[in-house]
Amino acid sequence: MKVEHVPRLRNWGNYPSVPAEVTTVETALEAADFVRENETLIARGNGKCYGDAALGKTVLSTLQLRQILDFDPQNGMINCESGVLLHDILKRVVPFGWFFQVTPGIKNISVGGAIACDVHGKNHPTKGCFSEWLESFELLQSDGSIVHCSKTENKSLFWQTCGGMGWTGVILSARFQLMPIQSLDMRQYAVQAPNLEHLFQAFEQHQHWTYAAAWVDTLAQGAAFGRGVLYLAEHWEVPDEQPMQYPASPQKNVPFYAPSWILNPLSIRIHNAMLFSGAKTAEQKVNLDRYFYPLDRIENWNRMYGRRGFIQYQFCVPERQAFDGMVQILQTIRKSRDMPFLSVLKRHGERPESAINSFPTKGYSLALDFPRTKTIFELVAQLDEIVWQLGGKIYLAKDACSAPKMGRIDPKGFGDPKFSSLLRERISSGK
Ligand SMILES: Cc1cc2nc3c(=O)[nH]c(=O)nc-3n(C[C@H](O)[C@H](O)[C@H](O)COP(=O)(O)OP(=O)(O)OC[C@H]3O[C@@H](n4cnc5c(N)ncnc54)[C@H](O)[C@@H]3O)c2cc1C
Repeated sequence: MKVEHVPRLRNWGNYPSVPAEVTTVETALEAADFVRENETLIARGNGKCYGDAALGKTVLSTLQLRQILDFDPQNGMINCESGVLLHDILKRVVPFGWFFQVTPGIKNISVGGAIACDVHGKNHPTKGCFSEWLESFELLQSDGSIVHCSKTENKSLFWQTCGGMGWTGVILSARFQLMPIQSLDMRQYAVQAPNLEHLFQAFEQHQHWTYAAAWVDTLAQGAAFGRGVLYLAEHWEVPDEQPMQYPASPQKNVPFYAPSWILNPLSIRIHNAMLFSGAKTAEQKVNLDRYFYPLDRIENWNRMYGRRGFIQYQFCVPERQAFDGMVQILQTIRKSRDMPFLSVLKRHGERPESAINSFPTKGYSLALDFPRTKTIFELVAQLDEIVWQLGGKIYLAKDACSAPKMGRIDPKGFGDPKFSSLLRERISSGK
C-alpha cells in the first residue's frame, strides 16, 4: 500500500483541483481495510474523467489492481481486476482475434472507470454501453464485505453501480464479453455535410454503418451553419495474413502547458476550415488503433488548453428535439465569447430500462471542449437550461460545473454516503 499526499489532484480537464491523500492498494484485502478505516473516500482509476468525479480528500487508487485473472481465447470472456487499463487488455486479447464490444475514444482508462461511468462508443445504437457486455463484478462495500453483482445476482446494486460514478463502493474485478475481429484494420468512409441539416440527414441515411461519429464546425455561419464531417466505419472483414499484434502507438507529447492565447478565434477557425476541407471522403483502410484512439497518440494533449484547464460539456437530447436543440445550442455558443475547440456529435440508441444511471438516451449527444475562461460558467448555465428544457441530460464523467439537476441522477436515491467525491458533494448540496 502506497500513500501519497498530492497538493493538487486533477482529472483530465485540469479543473478543478483538490489537495488529496491518494492511497494505492495492491490487494482486495488492503482495499477492504482501507475502506473500513476511512469515514469517506472515492475510488479512482486513471483519472481520465474530465471534471470532479474522481476527486476527493481521500482517494483509493486501483491502478495496482492490474491483473488479468482469466481470459478464454475460445469464447472471448475476460475476467480482470478493476485497475487494468483497456490498453493492457488489448495487448493481451487482440493477438487471439478479440476486441471490445464497446470502447470509448480512449484506451488509457481502467475497467473500474469504464463500469462506473458506463462508457459508450461510436456504436451505441447497436451495441449499447459497456454494461451491456458486462457479466458480473465484485464490489467492495463500506463495511469491508465483497459482494458479487450480476444481472441476476444483486441485480439492483449491479445497475446502480453501472454509471453510478463510484458511489456504491469500490469495484474490485469484473468479467465481460469481448467481440471477435478478423483484422487490425477498419474500413472508413467520410461524408462532408455542408450544414447541420445535411449532417443530421447523413446520420439517418447511414444508420446501417456500425460506427458513426461526426465533427461539427461550431463556428461556421450562414449557409454553412453546423457543417461537419460524419465518419463511418466497419471492421475490416478479410482476415489479416499476418498474426495480429496490437501496435504500440507512436506517441507525441505536449511537453508543457500552452499559453492561453494559442486557442483564439482565428486559430480555431483555421483549424475548423482545415478539418472540413481536408476530410478524405473516399473509402479508406485505417488502422484500428488510429481509428478508435486518435487522441491517445498525443500524450498530455490536455496541456494545449493551458494551466487553467478546460471544461468538456457533453449532453444528450431526445431524438425528436435533437435537431432544433443543436441549433439552439450552437446559436447560444455563437452569441457568447467562448468557443469550443473540439466537438463530437453521436447518435444514440434506446437506453435499457434497467440501466438507470447510464448517460445515453435515444437521440443525439454533442461533446464540446471549451478553454476555462472567466465567462465559461455563465455559458454552461445557459446551455444547461436549454438542455433541460429539451428533456436532455449531461454526462457526469465530463461534468465540472453544470447545475446539479443536469445529470438527472439523485445521489440520495442510491449508493452509500461513505463513497463520496467532489462531484457527489456538489450535486448533493444542490449548488
Ligand atoms: C480523450 C478522452 C476521450 C473519451 N471518450 C469517451 C467516450 O467516447 N465515451 C465515454 O463514455 N467516455 C469517454 N471518456 C471518458 C472516460 O472514458 C471515462 O471518464 C472513464 O470513466 C475514465 O476511466 P478512468 O479509469 O480514468 O476513471 P477515473 O477518471 O479515475 O474515474 C471516473 C469515475 O469512475 C469511478 N471509478 C473509477 N474506478 C472505480 C472503481 N474501481 N470502483 C468504483 N468506482 C470507480 C470514479 O470514482 C469516478 O467517478 C473519454 C475521456 C477522455 C480523456
